[in-house]
Amino acid sequence: MKSALKSPKNSYRKLLLKKRDELLATFRLDPEALTISIRTPDEVEFASKTAEQGVTAATVALRRQMLKEVEKALARVVGGTYGLCEGCGQEISSSRLNALPWARYCLICQELRSRN
Ligand SMILES: [Zn+2]
Repeated sequence: MKSALKSPKNSYRKLLLKKRDELLATFRLDPEALTISIRTPDEVEFASKTAEQGVTAATVALRRQMLKEVEKALARVVGGTYGLCEGCGQEISSSRLNALPWARYCLICQELRSRN
């Protein structure tokens, strides 16, 4: 009998759920948030760096996109593919997942994508 090791993925799942709650809370405060969209998911990472600087429409669009990404990440936790890069299939580093729990790509693939 294998003893069930506590999976580190559980902590990412908690992070994702917490983030989802935060995002949903901001939408309740600002219902217009749900009507604005962002062009591509790749912008999320870039935009997240400037999100705190008060560009309202962009911030709102970012949150909406982030919510989608968070929900997709939660689906990957359930499906067992969480933490694997969608580009190359390698594991995404834990430092990257800690900074960006909904990351779909490893750093290398993300950089390749943002160059195109
Ligand atoms: Zn990759």
